[in-house]
Amino acid sequence: MIQRYDLIIVGGSFAGLACARTAALKGLKVAVIDAKDDPGARMRTTGIVVKEASDDFDLPARHMRKVRGVRLYAPNDRFADFTAPGYFFQATDTTSVMRWLASEAERAGATLLYGRRFETAVEHARGVALPDLGLHASFLIGADGARSRVAENFGLSRNTHFLAGLEIECEPLDALDPRFLHCFADSKIAPGYIAWAVPGVEVTQIGVAARRPAKPDLGELLLRLKTVCDIRDIRVTSRRSGLIPAGGTLKHIGTNRVMLIGDAAGTVSPVTGGGIHTALHFGRRAALLVSDYLADRGAHPVGALAKELPRYRAKLLLRRLLDLAPPNGMINAFLMTGPAKALAQRIYFHTRAGSTESYEAWAAEFERGELSQTPPQLPTPKLRLI
Ligand SMILES: Cc1cc2nc3c(=O)[nH]c(=O)nc-3n(C[C@H](O)[C@H](O)[C@H](O)COP(=O)(O)OP(=O)(O)OC[C@H]3O[C@@H](n4cnc5c(N)ncnc54)[C@H](O)[C@@H]3O)c2cc1C
Repeated sequence: MIQRYDLIIVGGSFAGLACARTAALKGLKVAVIDAKDDPGARMRTTGIVVKEASDDFDLPARHMRKVRGVRLYAPNDRFADFTAPGYFFQATDTTSVMRWLASEAERAGATLLYGRRFETAVEHARGVALPDLGLHASFLIGADGARSRVAENFGLSRNTHFLAGLEIECEPLDALDPRFLHCFADSKIAPGYIAWAVPGVEVTQIGVAARRPAKPDLGELLLRLKTVCDIRDIRVTSRRSGLIPAGGTLKHIGTNRVMLIGDAAGTVSPVTGGGIHTALHFGRRAALLVSDYLADRGAHPVGALAKELPRYRAKLLLRRLLDLAPPNGMINAFLMTGPAKALAQRIYFHTRAGSTESYEAWAAEFERGELSQTPPQLPTPKLRLI
């Protein structure tokens, strides 16, 4: 018998689960299908989230660890630290966060069908039929990642520019300064991108990505890491790899009854490779638009979402420069200059200005408990009768 849903979402990861939760809360009958057996299986991400993502989605603090700054190393081992007052990144236990997102979607009323792979579907005027899976939806969302099968099936735009990433997870490296994301700009190890070492949630994550077709060099990165901290006793517990779309938001993200979100729609920053926040944010927005469309004859979700998605114009220009993988001599000469540091501050912290106070001074004051306890001056609320 055919199971009928208002909304079927292919892909139960950040974008799909955020979408499913909101759509179910809005009263739609929702199903999520995912090829993997368990929401936390086969995670392919480092899982660093910007502060805004953990604030906007109330992600559980128990699965995260604050990292307050970025230490950026040049190939010659000189480094600079970047912070911004009040700001931090969150390293996440991504498996636990994903299971939590799945349980939240389920609690909101969505049906989660893991262990089901989407292969093919047929669109008609009032919905989409998935005969192999015995399912039918009034609307179908493809949240199935960088190499979206949904995009392929419906002839939508597909990602063509990628970074290839490799990462190992190991028992915590105590010698690695836990206050920073350690980032290495080095065209031999990570042509077109960077390498990283992240003091995560009870693990250390060490990874590298490169602009395809170049290959990231994890072996070289480990040699390099030796100059930063003692890694003689490194115990690797897992490894992962994956593709990061780097060509920006795609053009044709939908048809009458189908729409792409998350990596499937290319909403990853072409410079930082960060896609979790946009996946969560636009996953939720897609749910609101689809529910308004199906229930209240609202604007068509594809056009409405396309208008909201980031265009990444400046970041795509910067991506072209990064793709050239400048020689290490040039990186050494440029990276510690004022303009390069200003650019790095902007990439990592957007418009937030760097602190004139050094991180060390700020942290020492914080640890002594001497930071001002003055409550923030909040504007007086204005009440309006409506
Ligand atoms: C090595 C690496 C490190 C990264 N690090 C970061 C980081 O630190 N911070 C950050 O913000 N971003 C990072 N990213 C990017 C980030 O992981 C993605 O932007 C994010 O995961 C996108 O979420 P999504 O829900 O769109 O897709 P995905 O997380 O890719 O999920 C797609 C889901 O679809 C399922 N699926 C795929 N095909 C099918 C099918 N045919 N049928 C059924 N199910 C299917 C998959 O099983 C998967 O669950 C990294 C990416 C990589 C590869």
